[in-house]
Amino acid sequence: MPKTSSKTLQCSFCGRNDEETDMMIAGNDCYICNHCVESATLMLQKQGIDQPVLDAAIRSILETQGMNKRSANGSQYGKASSNIPALTSLPTPSEMKAKLDQYVIGQDTAKRIISVAVYNHYKRLQHNFNSKLKDDEIEIEKSNILLIGPTGTGKTLIAQTLARILNVPFAIADATTVTEAGYVGDDVETVLLNLYQNADFDVDRASMGIVYIDEIDKIARKSESTSITRDVSGEGVQQALLKILEGTVAGIPPKGGRKHPDQPLIQLNTKNVLFICGGAFDGIEKIIEKRKRTVSIGFTAETQDSIKQSVELLLDTEPDDLVKYGFIPELVGRIPVISPLHALTDEALLEILTKPKNAIVKQYQKLFEYEGVDLSFTPDALEAIVQIAKKRNTGARSLRAVIEHAMLPIMYDVPDKKGVLTCTITKDVITEKAEPSYTFKK
Ligand code: ADP
Repeated sequence: MPKTSSKTLQCSFCGRNDEETDMMIAGNDCYICNHCVESATLMLQKQGIDQPVLDAAIRSILETQGMNKRSANGSQYGKASSNIPALTSLPTPSEMKAKLDQYVIGQDTAKRIISVAVYNHYKRLQHNFNSKLKDDEIEIEKSNILLIGPTGTGKTLIAQTLARILNVPFAIADATTVTEAGYVGDDVETVLLNLYQNADFDVDRASMGIVYIDEIDKIARKSESTSITRDVSGEGVQQALLKILEGTVAGIPPKGGRKHPDQPLIQLNTKNVLFICGGAFDGIEKIIEKRKRTVSIGFTAETQDSIKQSVELLLDTEPDDLVKYGFIPELVGRIPVISPLHALTDEALLEILTKPKNAIVKQYQKLFEYEGVDLSFTPDALEAIVQIAKKRNTGARSLRAVIEHAMLPIMYDVPDKKGVLTCTITKDVITEKAEPSYTFKK
């Protein structure tokens, strides 16, 4: 039987240990070293199978059998940390926030809170990897994060951008599609499968990734009293999520889909996975307000003052408020960092159109540049886009839809127009489907 201790791995074929090899490939309860792979390749070549076919076969085995490549010393608790940049060069909270600023408009409070929590999370991992925890040492608990704010205000964007900044694998899951094991829907393991796939089938990297769980508020229990019957959409799902949030070794099907009894499973430990949960939590301000006896202003009002009040109120969210909202205390206890996001003002929506590094307007300008056309939007055209998008009540999410709708006929025509130099989108183009104004080469 090959050794599977945290220190040494042993090839199941020749018995070499990982110090004697350059690479050890892990299978389900077995390992094969690079020497044995080479010998096997030679044997197959002698049978007349050529190299490209062999390469493809090896790649396919790695992917479908869920095997993962490990460098000689790269066992799960060894030097694997070196291929996880967040553990070797971790940006400080202020550096993280500065990077977030390039992509996420506004939401300053949330960006600060999250930067600190994420920094602490990876700092803790760095420490655990670089030195063995002594018995009497204080163990810092994982700080999963809860983002509370209306739809389309940047919750997913923040989580996604952070993962990109830190270069860690990232996966998005929707809490409403997660079910208790045994019910029709996604098992929680499916959530982890996405993470594993996004980590290029590297378990070590996946186990230090970030998972964003959207619409967590939708799995709140309807009433605070505990029900004796099983509740597929509520408490049962919370229990299932609790398991992966607090840390469990989950068996995930390497090929995706539903688990099959005969299929070998990949073991992914979620102890070090950072979970960021997000939801609109409609009505939670009433619970906080009731506790604090202040006046609620809700999410719909969007003046600067009301936004400030709303954020301040939500900053006061206590675990008890979440329990009252319908969450089991154990789950609330596993998400200790709570951060509010505010509704976006008109000015913020306007900025989102043009300011972020990959702003929608910049993307269209790039596309037109490929056609040799200089695209611009007049200020009142941008304002019109914001006003139409605002009516849809989905935050910044509808900006892209509005602009796409207006640009479609133009994108259809421009490649056929000869000699276009500039294309200016005016307010009428957005509101009345008018023709944009063009200038042509003389
Ligand atoms: P949610 O809060 O519902 O998770 P998302 O983060 O998915 O919202 O936002 C939807 C889209 O709207 C994003 O892809 C992004 O383009 C845009 N967006 C939302 N909020 C912001 C923001 N604060 N700054 C920049 N873009 C934003």
